[in-house]
Amino acid sequence: MINRDRIVRTFLELVAIESPSGSEDAVAAEIERRLRALGAEASQDAHGNVLGRIAGHGEPLLLSAHMDTVEPGRGIKPVFDGPDIIRSDGTTILGADNKAGCAVILEVIESLREDGGAHRAVEVAVSRGEEVGLLGARNMDYSRISAKVALVIDSGGPPASIQGQAPFHHTYDIDVFGRSAHAGLEPEKGIPAITIAAEIVSGLPQGRFDAETTGNVGRIQGGLVRNAVPDHCRIEGEMRSMDEGAVQALQGQAEAHVEAVRGRHPGARIEASFRREYPGYRLTEDDPAAKLLYGVLQEFGMEPDPHPVGGGTDGNVFRGHGIASVVFGRGGYNQHTRDEYLVIPELLDCARVIERAVRSGAG
Ligand SMILES: [Zn+2]
Repeated sequence: MINRDRIVRTFLELVAIESPSGSEDAVAAEIERRLRALGAEASQDAHGNVLGRIAGHGEPLLLSAHMDTVEPGRGIKPVFDGPDIIRSDGTTILGADNKAGCAVILEVIESLREDGGAHRAVEVAVSRGEEVGLLGARNMDYSRISAKVALVIDSGGPPASIQGQAPFHHTYDIDVFGRSAHAGLEPEKGIPAITIAAEIVSGLPQGRFDAETTGNVGRIQGGLVRNAVPDHCRIEGEMRSMDEGAVQALQGQAEAHVEAVRGRHPGARIEASFRREYPGYRLTEDDPAAKLLYGVLQEFGMEPDPHPVGGGTDGNVFRGHGIASVVFGRGGYNQHTRDEYLVIPELLDCARVIERAVRSGAG
């Protein structure tokens, strides 16, 4: 049975191991060790994600969370605020995002082992670097994952709080190579990369286009000194939309604009690379992941509350690899702030819901 004291203890022990993105080795080793101690096969893939598996019956189900936290996330001192809430001491984040997700996975496996009885095969993927661009999920060894459905424990609020829509995310880098020359002696011999880049930036999609489509030029870098015509300038930007066609149309406009600028400046070399970082999704009720989670929530008397989110999670990347994924709450609030806190009863609900999902359909 899901055990309150045990899951809280696991959570606090994981929080005590610092793991800001990029510094996950210690917590990865600990999660791997705990999975093995619970009888799971577990090891790290080449990127250092912890992948695990416990045998069972029927279709395997993937349980996933990320092990890294945002800053300020060092020297976290969790404090109880009444019996049901854990906060940081106000100087750091708490790290419930996403040590709470990790604790839920460990508790579910321990509870299954303790109680015995039939359950589905469980695969576990605990990723690194989620907070800095979904790095772990993007570099995961998918040859070791056979599940086609994933429960991704990585959202704020109670388990009925579900990320119902997430955007398609496209990014680009544009490098303008001109020619340098002394700005005072012979500027006409130069090809000013910054000026050409400005022409490009002015025509790139920026701001809001509709309720679910946005664009941004986020970074520009170029030139070396005041008195030289700059020979290089780099532009970095992004576009997002819940609608795949809309983000593709924006990208098409941006590419056409770069092409037009290129035509006006034959002496410059312009290299542009556009790419999809991850696919978006809109959960529908017949989606296999949504169907599984919604059914279990309703069994527990919780009404699924899917809502749109503006960014991606590992769930977007999993979907790109053909794994239907649903991302939902594990009792955390004010994520990525010093006011972050965890509601223990909601953490327990999350674990109970997942345990029930793992038990369901064990043929
Ligand atoms: Zn998270």
